[in-house]
Amino acid sequence: EFLKTQLVVTAWERKRMKEKVSFGKRTNLPMMEQRRSLPIYQMRSELVKAVKENQFLVIVGETGSGKTTQITQYLDEEGLSGKGIIGCTQPRRVAAVSVAKRVADEMGVKVGSDVGYTIRFEDQTSPKTRIKYMTDGMLQREALLDPMMSKYSVIMLDEAHERTIATDVLFALLKEAGKKRPDLKVIITSATLDSAKFSKYFLDCPIINIPGKTFPVEVMYSTTPTMDYIEAALDCVMNIHINNDPGDILVFLTGQEEIDSCCEILFERVKTLGDTIGNLLILPIYSALPSEIQSKIFEPTPKDTRKVVLATNIAETSVTIDGIYYVVDPGFSKVNSYNSRAGMEQLVVTSISQAQANQRKGRAGRTGPGKCYRLYTESAFYNEMSRNSVPEIQRQNLSHTILMLKAMGINDLINFEFMDPPPKSLMVSALNDLYNLEALDNDGYLTKLGQRMSQFPMDPTLAKTLVASVSNECSEEITIIVSMLSVQNVFYRPKGKQQEADLKKVNFHHPYGDHLTLLNVFKAWERNNYSERFCELNFLHYRHLKKANDVRKQISQLLQKFGLPVTSCHGDPDVIRKTLVSGFFMNASKRDSQVGYRTIRGNNVVGIHPSSSLHGKEFEYVIYHSLVLTAKEYMSQVTSIEPGWLIEMAPHFYKEIGSDSQSRKRLKIQPLYNKFSKDQNSWRLSSIRQTREK
Ligand code: ADP
Ligand code: MG
Repeated sequence: EFLKTQLVVTAWERKRMKEKVSFGKRTNLPMMEQRRSLPIYQMRSELVKAVKENQFLVIVGETGSGKTTQITQYLDEEGLSGKGIIGCTQPRRVAAVSVAKRVADEMGVKVGSDVGYTIRFEDQTSPKTRIKYMTDGMLQREALLDPMMSKYSVIMLDEAHERTIATDVLFALLKEAGKKRPDLKVIITSATLDSAKFSKYFLDCPIINIPGKTFPVEVMYSTTPTMDYIEAALDCVMNIHINNDPGDILVFLTGQEEIDSCCEILFERVKTLGDTIGNLLILPIYSALPSEIQSKIFEPTPKDTRKVVLATNIAETSVTIDGIYYVVDPGFSKVNSYNSRAGMEQLVVTSISQAQANQRKGRAGRTGPGKCYRLYTESAFYNEMSRNSVPEIQRQNLSHTILMLKAMGINDLINFEFMDPPPKSLMVSALNDLYNLEALDNDGYLTKLGQRMSQFPMDPTLAKTLVASVSNECSEEITIIVSMLSVQNVFYRPKGKQQEADLKKVNFHHPYGDHLTLLNVFKAWERNNYSERFCELNFLHYRHLKKANDVRKQISQLLQKFGLPVTSCHGDPDVIRKTLVSGFFMNASKRDSQVGYRTIRGNNVVGIHPSSSLHGKEFEYVIYHSLVLTAKEYMSQVTSIEPGWLIEMAPHFYKEIGSDSQSRKRLKIQPLYNKFSKDQNSWRLSSIRQTREK
């Protein structure tokens, strides 16, 4: 039965083949065959019919069944893109890009033409685009200008089970848009079985299950708790490689550094064993990896070689790697979590949920019966892991999201139809932050400044800094600094050459700190005609700098679009630092000779990160971009400031409580909000309540 369906060339395929031939494009027959062998192919007509007949539809299917790459094409082939774009959101940037490329390949077109993608600071679409992949964050941003989603005929919220903040917000926005636009089709796709909840939320819409072609996976648990999961994972991989039948291995780790160092260790171990064991191809995958390297994991494994892919949880559902027989699951992932009391966001390594563990296990059963090695005990799985992961919206900083909602005129946050509402404490701290940044007024309404800030796709603190730079006439410099902060670390420290690299880095150091150091790096690269050679010589990541330059251009264009001048202060460090203070005054720390530094806001003990250009130096007051928690709490991207600036730039937040001596530098400062916090509850609630009344 299955074979038969595979052999029938449907009318639309014939049409497409003809078109391709007539346009002289290559017809990719193997790819077409592969498309037809996907489980979803047998559901094609049922799916298309269901989309035509229902406004909302939930589609559930195993990872790899073809949801992301096929549904959009089916709908396009059936003419649903005639009245508007078929949009498909992805929680991850990498997935949006790689899937768009794959679909363009399958359709025999170039990315950016009929098929395109949009991610932050990168738009690869054209007026011709009929199928558009994008991050959920980008669609949320589009809703700011066009809440009716009028460009789209169909929107597919893909990977809905990931429950990112943007997807959660889009649930509500699209439900609302759907009410006003009966012709808008909304599809929610998910890899796991929480479909009933999605269906209930979307007015009890139908659920379609894609039957998966999956094989049984045998699960092996550790008999004793694992002390060092990295060591255990490496041992497990070597064991499989040496003792087990052929089949590729997928290992789940928590982040880039961990993955890179594990790749190296594995490489060394394989080298030491030499010819006594088979070939092992070691490949990493994480979001920050350049796409050329990423696409390597999709290539078929060479003969007589075993592939091991070391991945973050990106490989749980977002990308599918064929040929995996063994999964190694240490049981951890890195999640972003906001501590509203401390007022900071942290990436923390935490235990995964049972749902995630099962998703990981499933990766081993796509090509044949597989094995999953859980590096934790069976009792830990049942008794210590939660059933489902907590949605992002219930654990992350919401200030960016709330700013966008307020900018859309959604003031009533209490009655906003969240699928799972965030805890009040998170909403309140976001409202507080926005109020402190002067994006909201006393009643919780958007100010003019807040309106402006919402137009920039970045964290509100950065947006505020950028807006302030316009009036301080240093927008050129701040644009560069903001761009450099929004890309990955530009300093390159290869193993074995770390000292050499550090010496080069010192050349760029600015005595006042990291923000100005970043500016120095960019300016020096600019003076050297943006050359790659310059980067090599100075241990800088060319790719990251190039990205920063792209971001810089995008931000400059945004400034121009809003009629805001791009002006330079010719590098005046005080003007730049004051401007930074106007966005980051809440992230200020004061020296405490006993412990290092203490944050002014929370009085928490922090240190200057060893990678900072201010490390080992002593300044009375500093601001920082973010806090990172490793062995200890560190401030990252630190710049020294004059305490008086805190009062000058944020008089609503700080007050002077006298000085130790005559010197201004010894000025004592205290955040006003401590005094204000008694009434804060009433302010917070009234601002939420008031918004409800309007
Ligand atoms: P789903 O969204 O249901 O997880 P996808 O549509 O992403 O499934 O993938 C369907 C199949 O297409 C995968 O099983 C894989 O074989 C193939 N595929 C997807 N992306 C790529 C790619 N970038 N390179 C090669 N094959 C791919
Ligand atoms: Mg998918």
